[in-house]
Amino acid sequence: MTGLNGTGAHTAGADKVRTGKPDPAIDRIDVAVYTVPTDAPEADGTIAWTSTTMVLVQAVSGGTAGLGWTYGAPATREVVGGELAPLLLGRSALDVPAANEAMHRSVRNAGAPGLVAGAVSAVDIALWDLKARLLGLPLVRLLGAAREQVAVYGSGGFTSYDDSMMDRQLRGWADGQGIPRVKIKVGESWGGCERRDLDRIRRAREAVGPDCELYVDANGGYTGKQAVRVAAAFADQDVRWFEEPVSSDDLPGLRAVREAVLPDVAAGEYGYDLPYLTRMAAAGAVDCLQADATRCGGITVWLRAAAVAEGLGLQLSGHCAPHVHAHAAAAAPAFRHLEWFHDHVRIENLFFDGTLDPRGGVLTPGADGRPGHGLSLVEERAVAYRVA
Ligand SMILES: [Mg+2]
Repeated sequence: MTGLNGTGAHTAGADKVRTGKPDPAIDRIDVAVYTVPTDAPEADGTIAWTSTTMVLVQAVSGGTAGLGWTYGAPATREVVGGELAPLLLGRSALDVPAANEAMHRSVRNAGAPGLVAGAVSAVDIALWDLKARLLGLPLVRLLGAAREQVAVYGSGGFTSYDDSMMDRQLRGWADGQGIPRVKIKVGESWGGCERRDLDRIRRAREAVGPDCELYVDANGGYTGKQAVRVAAAFADQDVRWFEEPVSSDDLPGLRAVREAVLPDVAAGEYGYDLPYLTRMAAAGAVDCLQADATRCGGITVWLRAAAVAEGLGLQLSGHCAPHVHAHAAAAAPAFRHLEWFHDHVRIENLFFDGTLDPRGGVLTPGADGRPGHGLSLVEERAVAYRVA
């Protein structure tokens, strides 16, 4: 679209030259907000919550709609409806990177990171789904597959759970579904409960047995030296992944912990743009870069983050929202795994038909041949949770 005149503006004429007929246009952007109570109080090292909010976008062209979403503040809806939608109406539904760039440029003065980036991300995801549906292709086929299967790890193990609840959840993944990787939260109360953290890691190892990979996530709850000390204390539990041992804002701190501990250090879930993720990866701060397509700018930017990670010899892991990431993950050579996050799996299974099956620890996106990401919203199940 931009190649013929270099302006990046609407170029319906150019579309005609290229394809012989005008591109399908973006006719409508709808947005709705749903707040779903958790099935039990949830907490990690540095925050607690009892509900999760999904901001759901539908991008419509003719009789076809694409679905995208982000998990975040209800105010995200105002950004989608007020700032982004007017910009997109009438644009080609096929040139998603052009739409993404236009959205990103337009929010300069509103402040691009944070919930604004969540809004851009949700729309971008909806546009990729829309394009794949317009072309009748599973999204992974539109993007081009690098692999057939996508590994997942079970993620939950909240610090608010009692021992039996955590056991049940972890065994459900490891034994019930055969997922050979699980993650629990540590760093409880900003690192104030080290003994309980260590006890829970031991219990988690007992629950899943010796052959399951065990991961921990401190959500930035420890200090640097504390993280190294805690890692030494859990060294006999064969923990493979230590996520956000210190704040992800502290790149030298992450790097220092990374150099001092055996598990892979991972971070990146608060990356709202490509430069953030690039800086983190280039700083030597992580063994595995995490990126969240519902925050970093959608599938468009997530795939670029995968290229950045690959270029620096790192792997990329998808943070949360597993059904947003599955198809893109299959298209990224540097991809390691997706987070099968309890909270989001629950909501995505509740709201959508066509969700993926994680048995054996892998998803096979596109296997059913459905176009797009293969999901359809089941309004009658979602409506009870709609708040705006
Ligand atoms: Mg995390």
